[in-house]
Amino acid sequence: MMSDAREHFPILTQQVDGHPLAYLDNAATTQKPRQVLDAVVRYYSESNANVGRSVHAMSMRATDAYEAARETVRGFVNAADASEIVFTKGTTESVNLVAEGFVTELVSAGDEIVVSGMEHHSNLLPWHRVCRRTGAVLRVVPTDADGEITAAAFAEQLGPRTRFAAVAHVSNVQGTVNPVAEISALTRERGIPLLVDGAQAVAHRPVDVQALGADFYCFSGHKMYAPMGTGVLYGRAELLERTDPLLVGGGMVRHVNAEGPQKVFPAPALFEGGTPNIAGAVGLAAAVEYLTGIGMDQVAAHDAELTARAAAGLRGLDGVRVFGAQQPSGGLVSFGVDGLHPYDVGNHLSANGIMVRTGVHCAMPFVDSLGVVGTVRASFAVYNTPEEVDRLVETVATAEKGFWTNEHPNERFLSD
Ligand code: PMP
Repeated sequence: MMSDAREHFPILTQQVDGHPLAYLDNAATTQKPRQVLDAVVRYYSESNANVGRSVHAMSMRATDAYEAARETVRGFVNAADASEIVFTKGTTESVNLVAEGFVTELVSAGDEIVVSGMEHHSNLLPWHRVCRRTGAVLRVVPTDADGEITAAAFAEQLGPRTRFAAVAHVSNVQGTVNPVAEISALTRERGIPLLVDGAQAVAHRPVDVQALGADFYCFSGHKMYAPMGTGVLYGRAELLERTDPLLVGGGMVRHVNAEGPQKVFPAPALFEGGTPNIAGAVGLAAAVEYLTGIGMDQVAAHDAELTARAAAGLRGLDGVRVFGAQQPSGGLVSFGVDGLHPYDVGNHLSANGIMVRTGVHCAMPFVDSLGVVGTVRASFAVYNTPEEVDRLVETVATAEKGFWTNEHPNERFLSD
């Protein structure tokens, strides 16, 4: 199955500077299979109209497609009810919705919010802002020498004033898979709601939000073969009932008079004010169907195999450091080459047709804690092959010092 996955992605047939394209920047965004592209074109060609606003047949058709997409996503992450699936434009919006609409109301001065020390800025800055506005305190679970955390380390930061906690399912820097189910058992028994950032997990492993014990689970469609501008906030019904919307306006109110809104819709419409990205939701559902057509267990095995092959190959090179002790299983591997700036390695790889991410990966406090100016990150998808991994390793071996130096930490901002 996986062997023909490449053929499903029209973009991959191109050459870059005379080299066949090896797209290894999937943690930033994946390419889109024809099945997804076709679903979007079909939607615009046959069913385009606004949702939930008119009685006409086209609006009904668009509404049906949009709600069917929600049900498909519900099944993909095993939410109990489709109303627990809120469409957003990505993980960043999902986390901000929870921060602004739920946590800001929940905390007051002196209360605590706990996050891990390896968070992406999108699961960090919203909590900084809540703290700045409310006087709550952010407590960070320190990562160990390998840049990892345990559930026990998480437990140490949970105290009597902890009101909320947030953690990445999979680190976008090292690919570390965090013990989310163990962490949620700790937060649940203390009555602390837990948000899980699943941006780097959903494309690589089966996700069951109920089995994980996540109260909120956030992810981005564009990192799982779906169109840009698609994302999801899963929230347990009981918590969404206590959450305010980020956007107010058309589509989320049932009755408004001169004084303002008198009656709002329940979730999920409450959180989807304005015209939503209907074609995006349809494309996201097609991406879910694409992934489940392959089988998430097979996807996970494929991505883990490529990641292990890359980690082993890179570890075998002189002067190459692979970050993290865990056998990387999150579908990506981060590394550095002694004496070479990550940008030099990235430029060299790009000149050879290999696309990787370089820099601090929007996780500056964490990358700082690793004591480097940045890393080179190769991240894998269903269409990548062992040959591409070998090409990556062979090409890293020939990288040479170029324009960038390690002495100018501010250059990191260029890739943030
Ligand atoms: N969290 C993690 C772990 C991520 O990897 C990313 C994307 N790099 C985000 C959050 C933000 O996702 P988006 O940009 O799609 O909102």
